[in-house]
Order: sequence, then structure tokens, then C-alpha cells
Amino acid sequence: MTSLPLISVDPDARGRRPAMPPRHLADLDLPGRQALVAELGEPAFRAKQVSNHYFGRLVRDPAQMTDLPAATRERLAGTLLPTLLNPVREMACDDGATRKALWRLHDGSLVESVLMGYPDRVTVCISSQAGCGMACPFCATGQAGLTRNLSTAEIVDQAVYLAGVAASGAVAGSPPRLSHVVFMGMGEPLANYARVVAAIRRLVAPAPEGLGLSQRHITVSTVGLVPAIRRLASEDLSVTLALSLHAPDDELRDELVPVNQRWKVSEVLDAAWDYADTTGRRVSIEYAMIKDVNDQPWRADLLGRLLAGKLAHVNLIPLNPTPGSRWDASPKPVEREFVRRLRDAGVSTTVRDTRGREIDGACGQLAAAEDRDSDPRAATA
Ligand code: SF4
Repeated sequence: MTSLPLISVDPDARGRRPAMPPRHLADLDLPGRQALVAELGEPAFRAKQVSNHYFGRLVRDPAQMTDLPAATRERLAGTLLPTLLNPVREMACDDGATRKALWRLHDGSLVESVLMGYPDRVTVCISSQAGCGMACPFCATGQAGLTRNLSTAEIVDQAVYLAGVAASGAVAGSPPRLSHVVFMGMGEPLANYARVVAAIRRLVAPAPEGLGLSQRHITVSTVGLVPAIRRLASEDLSVTLALSLHAPDDELRDELVPVNQRWKVSEVLDAAWDYADTTGRRVSIEYAMIKDVNDQPWRADLLGRLLAGKLAHVNLIPLNPTPGSRWDASPKPVEREFVRRLRDAGVSTTVRDTRGREIDGACGQLAAAEDRDSDPRAATA
């Protein structure tokens, strides 16, 4: 194992508060939107009308909001629906069933989202931070460090935008309605706790307040911020918790997931089991299979012993190596043996499909590629 990557910090940026985007209706609950509309001198019901366009009809073009008076349409939409995500690239693969979007935010930060169509559902994977401060050494996003937290609306808008793409019929062979959201894009969701929880509330609130998704169809991933897991369990939300474990022993996990130096495997798993008890939701244990690093049979057996009898499911993730990285995916026979040992221990285990590989599908890879392409220093870095 090598030492952890160094994260460079612009000395001029130290102590500077990151500039947050303009306020958007998805930052506010319905009463908050009504108060904002009242400040504009408009009747409160306009808030519901604009919300219905955005969340209910997935429309953001004022010209299509014909139930609003023409004289105030632009002003209302301009105030409630400022542009948050500027598309940089949109790419499709897997015969159009996977579409990856790269966005530039108002301050130039890059984030990405992925839309995945299946015969029975449509899932979007969204980012919760620009960059990430968790420094997992095998992850493209972790190499660049954290730029800033996304606002609630910047998080929600990724899902609403891609729900609109799905509704347009762009994902052949899949239902047109977005059904699942996973917080597995860039960032550690629980490090942006308040905005992520507010975003979940917008995603599950019925239209026109929100997107009307089922709580059970939302998955929040974490590397194991124990106090935040416990707080999430008390939110009266029954979203799925996905714990990025990646190693069953502290010695290796201290390196692969540096936050383990603060909260050890046993503490993280205790918090996960308490979450499962409180919510009744099975915890998803995420485990990136990294060649010769965490894929040994004895680690499968140890993981099996930790998880046997628990309300848990293991998702093995074939590592999608970042360009130039020394980390590689485990060979298939090794992966199969790992699965076999976990199942023999009575642990439900699947290997995640590897959607989006052709388009830099691992978290942060598209943004990293954009940075490389646009930064002449990158070639020699
Ligand atoms: S794996 Fe997740 S938590 Fe770790 S650095 Fe990457 S984005 Fe952050």
C-alpha cells in the first residue's frame, strides 16, 4: 500500500467561504416558496403553479408556463428557477440505456450525474458535493479534494433534469418515469448533511412540493460518518443506507477509507445495524473489488463473519480504474471466489453491473477527464 494522496489547497482560497448558487425553489419547502412569491408582490398560489411546472411537469422554460400571466412569467421563473446546472457534456452508452451528464456550476465547479435505464425502473445517480474531502486513494474524486458542498437545489436539480430526459423517452426500453435516486455520485453525502436531507425531502414530497418518489427508492451512501448515520436514523425517513466498507479490517480500511482512522469498522457497523433496526431497511454494504488489495479469500471470510445474520446485502463493485492509476479491478475468478465465500457464510451478495464504463463511469472520472482536457498543466502533472 502506498501512502495517501496529498490534496493541494490553493493558499488564496484558505478561509474563503465558497460562493453558493442563487436561491432556487427546490431550496425551499412550499411555505418558503409562497413567502418568496409574496415578496415579489404575487399571490401565494403562484408558488404552487411554478412548483407544479418544475416538479410535476418537469418543465423549466417560462414560455411553456402558459397559466402564468405573460407579464410576470419571466420574472417569476427567473426568481424561482435560476439556472443552476450548465451542461458541459452528455454522453450515452450501453445502447442508450446509460447517460452521463457533466455540469458546470455557477462558480465553475464540475459535477456529474448518471441516468440508468432498466426494463423495470429508471435510476439516477447524483452528486452531493463538488469534489470530496474523504481522500479515498482509489477514487478519482478523492484525488482532487473538496471544492464545496452543493446546495439543496443543485442536488435536486440533477434528478429533476434527468427525470425530464427519461420522460422524453430518451432511455429506450425503460419506463419513462424516474423511480430511483442513489446518492453515489461525487462527494460524501453525509458530510453535506442538512442539504442532503432537505434534498431527500424534496425528492419524496408529492408534487407540486416535490418529485413524489418513494422513500424506499432512495439510497444514501456513506463512507461511515457515524454521528451522521445515527442522526439520519432519527429523521423519520426510510431511505436505504449504503455503507462503503471496502475492507473488513481496520488496518486496510484505515488506508482505503481514511475516515476509518476516526470511526473504526466495528463502530461503523454498529451504527449501520442500529440504522437497520430503526428503519427496518436492509443496509447495503458496498465493497470495491481491488486486485491484490482487498480481494483475498481470508478477507471474504472475515467480512462474512461480520455480516452473517445481519440485515445486510453486499454489493461487490468491480473497480473501474482511473487513468494512470495503480489500482486495478480484481480478476473475475477472484471475484467469483469472494462471492462464493460470502454466500457460504449466509450473506446475500451480488456483483454490481458496470454501467457507463465506456464513458468514464466511475464517480469523478468524467469531471477529472474534463479537467485534464481543459488544463494544459494536466499533461505534465
Ligand atoms: S470514494 Fe466516495 S467518499 Fe471516497 S473520495 Fe471518492 S467520492 Fe469521496
